[in-house]
Amino acid sequence: MRILVLQFIPETRQRSVPRFEPQLGTLLALLERRGHELALLGLARYAEGEIKAALARTLPQLIYADIAPVCVDAARRTFEYLTRHEPLPIVAGGLYPTVDPAGCLSLPGVYAVALGEPDASLSTYLERMKDPTAGQIVSGVWLRDERGLAQPGMPPLVEDLNSLPFAHRELFRYAEYVQRTGQIEIAVARGCPQRCAYCCNDRVRALYAGGQTWVRYRAPGNILAEIALLRERYPGVRLVRFLDHAFALDLVWLADFLPAYAQKCGLPFRCHVRANAADQRTIQRLAEAGCRAADIEVGSAGNLIRNEVFDMDLSAAQLRATFALLKHAGIRSRAIVYVGAPYESEASLEETRSLLARIQPDDADVRLYYPWPGTRARDLAQEHGWLHSRGEEQYHQDRSGLDVPACRAVHVARFIRRLRGELRAEVGKAWWWWRWPAVTRAALGQVFARRRV
Ligand code: SF4
Repeated sequence: MRILVLQFIPETRQRSVPRFEPQLGTLLALLERRGHELALLGLARYAEGEIKAALARTLPQLIYADIAPVCVDAARRTFEYLTRHEPLPIVAGGLYPTVDPAGCLSLPGVYAVALGEPDASLSTYLERMKDPTAGQIVSGVWLRDERGLAQPGMPPLVEDLNSLPFAHRELFRYAEYVQRTGQIEIAVARGCPQRCAYCCNDRVRALYAGGQTWVRYRAPGNILAEIALLRERYPGVRLVRFLDHAFALDLVWLADFLPAYAQKCGLPFRCHVRANAADQRTIQRLAEAGCRAADIEVGSAGNLIRNEVFDMDLSAAQLRATFALLKHAGIRSRAIVYVGAPYESEASLEETRSLLARIQPDDADVRLYYPWPGTRARDLAQEHGWLHSRGEEQYHQDRSGLDVPACRAVHVARFIRRLRGELRAEVGKAWWWWRWPAVTRAALGQVFARRRV
């Protein structure tokens, strides 16, 4: 079957669309293996011209839409166009259909949605579509037809990740990405043992029957074989970026993986480190195996937001200790901070600024908090009536998705602009820089910035 895959995913400051996503990449590899002809179009917004051109180029028989929960409007408008001009069957998958399958099935033209990990369910479903005599009910795929809504249960999780093919990358124009960045991205696991309330992990986990292993890691040999293949295919790789938040959470797996990686690959790598599960030994091992940069989710500086709203189970002492250990081990640290969460206040914003000053990351990514559908933090905001009326449009314009009376969206936006400006000038500077008054630092930062230009 000729399938046009539409990836609805937001653009980020560093990346355009389509953007490599391991789970979608694996699905595409499976579909290609089954003989389907695939084309991929990335859409962060509704773009009629691009859709028309892709339809003319690829003459699809089916549309598969992978939809991020912040791109539902773009998907809706695209499907409206398709139902009017090119009525093709639309099957959806990805995070949005997983957290809101009924909502996704109500989008124009959507006939079926795959929930959770779609590898087995979707490939089986597409096979059955070709055969009118085969029953169309497949575990993990909800259907809408004239008889109503079919909601079969979930299939078992893929236990052995090594049995899956390596993710497809060419359709994501991966050669260009490697050429531009010098890095390759690798997913080593599926599932996560933590339960942060700003993430969909626990909602997806709840779909599956108990008694199954939720957090699954690939074997070191399987990962290293993929890295070797990618290095051969894409010359100029200088860095491996491990995408999983759970990368350093299973110490037994890590103890197997790191020495094998250092021996068989040896490239510098970057990974996530969770500050509530990082000790000196782990960080030392990471450094010895070639870890040169680590991403640490700080969440928010305010304890109420970090631990009650985001449920990160993370103390300020753990954060301070982790950043100090990384510095000591010679690993560059990047703090990821969310601003504008439920219960944000002027006081918690200032706490964020001073926490960054204390932990002294080498880099900081200050993000505007957006209440992703399917998360407990969003449910909380919804209960209080704090969701912004403009919905996901706010996300695409880098504006707050909440309107909290104690800390208005406009105030959060002003704070974030100022903090990003200060950080651009200040991150990586000596500790004493932070002791100067903010106004002095901002003025000096501008002078330095002008000189750099
Ligand atoms: S550690 Fe990351 S992936 Fe795991 S629950 Fe928290 S935010 Fe989600």
